[in-house]
Order: sequence, then structure tokens, then C-alpha cells
Amino acid sequence: MIIGSHVSFGSEQILGSVKEAISYGANTFMFYTGAPQNTMRKEIDENLTKEAQKLMLANNIELNNVICHAPYIINLANRKDETKWEFSKNFLEQELKRCDELGIKFLVVHPGSAVGLPKEEALKNIWDALEDILKKDYTCQILLETMAGKGTECASTLEEMAILLQNHDKLGVCIDTCHLNDAGYNMQEFDQFLNEFATKIGLEKIRCVHINDSKNPLGSHKDRHANIGYGTIGFAALNKICHHEKLKNVPKILETPYVGETWEDKTRIYPPYKLEIESLRQEKFNEHLLEDIHKIYKR
Ligand SMILES: [Zn+2]
Repeated sequence: MIIGSHVSFGSEQILGSVKEAISYGANTFMFYTGAPQNTMRKEIDENLTKEAQKLMLANNIELNNVICHAPYIINLANRKDETKWEFSKNFLEQELKRCDELGIKFLVVHPGSAVGLPKEEALKNIWDALEDILKKDYTCQILLETMAGKGTECASTLEEMAILLQNHDKLGVCIDTCHLNDAGYNMQEFDQFLNEFATKIGLEKIRCVHINDSKNPLGSHKDRHANIGYGTIGFAALNKICHHEKLKNVPKILETPYVGETWEDKTRIYPPYKLEIESLRQEKFNEHLLEDIHKIYKR
């Protein structure tokens, strides 16, 4: 199983990300090239990149399985302000350039929110933006993420996703179990979902899976991630997805929340990933996740 988590990209850039992933026992990882909420970015340091690639090689992390995620504020759907739409497009191109410099093959992107526009027009705007970007022939491939349908988010249905992929052979898809659940796709019936995906889009398009439990019920359109086995999807269903034969070669990425002193504590400082990865590898639910995380990180 190819599994890792969201890790940070700090002062040591991707070298820091690799070190963090190794500390979780992961064989892949996902990072943002800066803060997920803004577009402030530093130049890629070639030496740190080289060192990171050496460290990956020595630790069984294949560069081809590593994922980059674009910041949330990119919105390709709304073109009411042409300057903002152009900014999103340009920023996405800069992200692709950075990925090419880093040797990263996949960039996950949230397609966008319609905010006041009819869905059809919003989808057309996203499609047009992608058309412009894909012409430029970056090596890194864009993966559009399936969304929960919170607010006016586009691509919360496979039909909408299929529209965005039309005549865009270079695009792939990242599915997110929490988003799918919140969008109304039942993860307890995952084979049924895969069949539907195969018919409407094609399974070969799935290049990344975000493994998250959900704090909300099926079809809630909320998008709040829960720790593995501590949400409404549950351990059994998520474990089955992780070990699914048809997704064997697809990287699985955890974006579950950090925990605090108690489950209710909002000062989330301890990462759950080492134990969640362990539990999914062993196919055994950890009922004492919080206590076990404290044992590792609390002194
Ligand atoms: Zn995402």
C-alpha cells in the first residue's frame, strides 16, 4: 500500500516534508508549497530538492507517488472579476512550474466555487482556464479533486467532474472519501461507487485518494474531516478502500485533524498520522488513538 499524509513544507522546503513523512513511517506524502490559505511562495532551492530526493530514495519513497496540493484560494470558476480569474490561472501555472522543478508529478486542485454564477457558467469558466493552462505542456499533471458541495463548490458530482475532464486528456482526478460522503456517495458501498466512476469517467483517471473520515452524515455537504474510524464513514469502509485491489497503485493521503489533550480540545498540536498509517497497514482499528498519540508526542 502506498500511504502517507499531508506534511509541511517549511524552512527546509521539500527536504523537511520528506523528514516528516519518514517520521510517520509513510512511503509517500502530500505538501503545499507554502500556506494552504495564501499565495505567498518562496523560490525552490535546488540543493534542498536534491538532498530530499536522495533521502526519498534511501527510504523507499518514490518521487512519482508524491503529491503537491494547490492553495484553496485559487478559484477558476468565477470570472466576474477577470483580474482575479487571471490571477488564479497564473498562480496555478506557477505551482506547476514549481512542481516541475521539484520533480513532482501530480498537483491536486480544488476546481472552484460558482459564487453567484449559474453552475453551467462556472463549469465553463473552470474548463476554459484548464484549457489555457494545459496548452502550456507542463510535465506535472493536474488532478481535480471531488468536492463535498459546500456552498457553491463545483465538482461534487461525477457528472460535473466529467464535464471538466471532457477533451482534457492530461487531467486526472483525486477522490476524497470525506468529500464523497458529504456529497452523498456512500463509502459503505464503495464498489458501487467505483462502478459508477468507471462508467462516467474511467477508473484510470483516479491518481490519488484522500483518506479521511467525516464528522458529518452522508450528503451533508459540509466537508469536516475526522480521524480514521472516529467519524461517520468508519474504519472498516476506509480500510477496505485503502486495500482495494483496483486502487492498489494509487497513493493514499491522510488529511485527518491533529489532536489536542482531549477530543474536544481545539489546540490541536499532535499529528495522528504515524498511528493512523500503522492501523491501516495492520488493518486493525486503534480504539486508543488519542492516548497512543499522547504516548508518542507528550512528555
Ligand atoms: Zn483538497
